[in-house]
Amino acid sequence: GYSRLTLRDTRSRWGSCTADGGLMYSWRLILAPPAVLRYVAAHEVAHLQEMNHSAAFWAVVERLYGQYEPPRSWLRENGAGLHRYRFGE
Ligand SMILES: [Zn+2]
Repeated sequence: GYSRLTLRDTRSRWGSCTADGGLMYSWRLILAPPAVLRYVAAHEVAHLQEMNHSAAFWAVVERLYGQYEPPRSWLRENGAGLHRYRFGE
């Protein structure tokens, strides 16, 4: 399970997660279509397995969500990226 689930008003990202398994989502996702919400959830859960954006990571996203390009494009076109990771800091 998740060690944390935090909601924040982050202007620069829609969601993020931490190396210890905490998940964070922006409340702004309330404004997003349901498919985008599902995509963000799948994206973050996939990061619990793959803490990067490698091909292996995207394979997990596809397994969890399916065709992720439409919601990914929506997020790109509607503001901030999903998140930024700072691994190893
Ligand atoms: Zn990511």
